Amino acid sequence: MIVIFSPDVVPGGEEVQRLLERARHFPNVTPQVHVVQGETRSLTEVYLIGETRAIPDDEMSELPGVERVVRVSEKYRLIGRHKGQMEALACEYNGVGFEQGTFNLLAGLCAVDTRENVEKTFRALGALGLATARMGAYKPRTSPYDFQGRGGTCLPYVFELAGKYGIRMIAMEVLHESHVEEILDALHRSGNATGVMLQIGTRNAQNFELLRAVGQQQELPVLVKRGMGITLEESLNACEYVAVNGNRRIVICLRGVKTHLGDPHRNFVDFAHVPVVKRLTRLPVCVDPSHAVGRKDRAPDGITDLAHATAQGIIAGCEMVLADVHPNPAEALCDGPQALLLEELPGFLEDCRIVRRAYEQRAALAARH
Ligand code: PEP
Ligand code: MN
Repeated sequence: MIVIFSPDVVPGGEEVQRLLERARHFPNVTPQVHVVQGETRSLTEVYLIGETRAIPDDEMSELPGVERVVRVSEKYRLIGRHKGQMEALACEYNGVGFEQGTFNLLAGLCAVDTRENVEKTFRALGALGLATARMGAYKPRTSPYDFQGRGGTCLPYVFELAGKYGIRMIAMEVLHESHVEEILDALHRSGNATGVMLQIGTRNAQNFELLRAVGQQQELPVLVKRGMGITLEESLNACEYVAVNGNRRIVICLRGVKTHLGDPHRNFVDFAHVPVVKRLTRLPVCVDPSHAVGRKDRAPDGITDLAHATAQGIIAGCEMVLADVHPNPAEALCDGPQALLLEELPGFLEDCRIVRRAYEQRAALAARH
């Protein structure tokens, strides 16, 4: 059950105290107080979690300051689009807006290798006016003998250089709760030179303790990648885990699913699910064509499969694209074959913009008819 207060009620206000007091009379019900930023206004909400069946809706709606009570029995209580809860979740962080309806490209190194490559990459992004990037410090590798990432040691120079080139948000995967602490610590030590969007990789889409940990901190937004071998519903529940633990600045990222039916691509591209996710949830949607396609072959029209897949995500209305880039892919320590060259970045960005304009025209056309 979600109790939504009128806009003038603050979390510490007596109206909220009154509700919490009332909630204490019902056994096995845990209240959580949240401030939720919608597109147009900010609201105080109390989630009553547990055995809420015994709580009468009427009594809750009549308490002072309560605007409405939503009893959500459907899936995805917090992130879903439900009656009385249709507004997209506002998502803004460090000056970057990424809610439904926006568009951002996050390009960068799959795995940080050298300071020099980090600098070359940020410089190229900055020159294109991009303020968002991706950088992998902690890498989940299938083989324990493969490069595992530079870890916490690269964070100081990654953050310093990001600040130098005007990068405001870097998507960075975490494999463990301690990585969140390391990132926050390094960010603060850098004087918040930049910002980080914590990334939950496909292999951790059902690591419930990690999902809980990134949900419990509210400083950094979270990018949840779709689990490669689980249903869409299970991946959306991963996002719900983050939300119920207190963090609603969440982006869900489609990155293909694992099956040999996708051969010769690395994964079976699932970007047709972009509109499905936007219909079911109020979250922004990202696509990762690099990990979905995994290679840079070119079709007879001269366009790479990777660019074609990117376009499929954008034409379907995604808000974000995550793309691997490397100054010298042949030397990359992880996923070189799918990385764009820095020289390919301007053309890639222009292609994204062409398709985004086409999507906006299609949406306007649909609105007219
Ligand atoms: C990544 O983005 O670097 C990555 C490992 O992706 P995924 O979790 O989708 O495999
Ligand atoms: Mn990778």
